[in-house]
Amino acid sequence: MQAVAPRDQIPGHAGDYREVGVDDLPGIDEALDQVLSRVQPLAAEAVPVAAAAGRVLAQDARAVVDLPPFASSAMDGYAVRASDTPGRLPVGGQSAAGSPLGRPQDAGEAIVISTGAVVPEGADAVVPVEVTERDGDVVRVEAVNAGAHVRPRGGDARSGETIGCAGQLLGPTQVGALAAVGLASVVCARRPQVAVLATGSELRAPGETLGPGEIYESNTALIAAQVRSAGGEPVVLAPVADDAEATREALARGLESDVLITSGGVSVGPHDLVRRALQELGAAEVFWRVAVKPGKPIAFATRGTTLVFGLPGNPVSSLVGFELFVRPALLALQGATRPQPAFLPGRAAVDLPRNDARDELVRARVRVEPEGVVLEPVTGQDSHMIARAFPADALVLVPRGDGAVPAGAPVSYLSL
Ligand code: AMP
Ligand code: MG
Repeated sequence: MQAVAPRDQIPGHAGDYREVGVDDLPGIDEALDQVLSRVQPLAAEAVPVAAAAGRVLAQDARAVVDLPPFASSAMDGYAVRASDTPGRLPVGGQSAAGSPLGRPQDAGEAIVISTGAVVPEGADAVVPVEVTERDGDVVRVEAVNAGAHVRPRGGDARSGETIGCAGQLLGPTQVGALAAVGLASVVCARRPQVAVLATGSELRAPGETLGPGEIYESNTALIAAQVRSAGGEPVVLAPVADDAEATREALARGLESDVLITSGGVSVGPHDLVRRALQELGAAEVFWRVAVKPGKPIAFATRGTTLVFGLPGNPVSSLVGFELFVRPALLALQGATRPQPAFLPGRAAVDLPRNDARDELVRARVRVEPEGVVLEPVTGQDSHMIARAFPADALVLVPRGDGAVPAGAPVSYLSL
């Protein structure tokens, strides 16, 4: 572990100084590579399809049956032979959804049919009810072509066909597709168990009354929600005060999980105890500090297969650090093919000043305009301003450099 570094910012003079020691820090991509190269995918388990949204397939999923399993009608109407149309045909029976006719259809007859019902053997088209005229036991039908309004057997999927590939994240559409082809369960990576630990003597639970110098503890709520949205199972530990022994004990518990996320205590103050305690518990630090704003003092360590992320306490730093490094790690643990942050293209609504030494993630609102997505920064970009971040639904990447990204210029952003 590195020795505690000297303060690299002069308090109260933001903007008037050049940050010291930042040039050597890894950038976002380099730090992310360091994280992902240390991820070993978790074991797989069978998961009911109905509960598989948000999970990642660990094995290809194949159709059990043809879909549709039989030639079926796309309309309510009459099953016919196209060669019998147009004409007046005797109505010989019916095929309803789930209740087939039960015999082949004769030449020259029409069979009442409903959407999703079996097109009887012998029929090759359906005449929609709207273009028929019923007269007792006889129906007048207009001309149709063979195949009209018939959904062929296997037209959606063939039995044995690969529907979903290993590594694919399942959403509502995907679980619907897997159920439709007859799968009751699929094989997915186990959900990562993620311990979440807030540190700080100033922290109080929301709902309690604040004493002097205290603030509400918000990061575990934020992080736990992020963990769930990344397919993990958060286990929120009781927050600890800035006390070396208490911090060590809580970290020891957290290290039993697949992933441990700590909040606070990774900066350079006298009460920042997390990195030292982790070291004492046998965790090997991979990096501390990344050239990113906010969230520079982020720490990453491993102990055995456990991944440890020390997120800075400022809530927006925590939010950003999770999206850049922890979410990809959780997805990679679940075997996702593309765990990297999913940056999307958009345009800056206003000039975005660049930090000369660190890539910056700016909280913004997404506006969809005819020419595409425009990103409007929210007011209040300081790393403690989580309330000002409330309306933000995007993090815009402003690469380090001189000057500003001008209004209208292309930018990439993460959807929150
Ligand atoms: P630290 O990283 O511990 O130096 O904390 C940086 C800032 O974040 C301080 O203003 C802390 O009070 C604040 N902070 C730390 N942990 C939390 C938390 N769990 N919830 C809200 N704010 C926090
Ligand atoms: Mg602290």
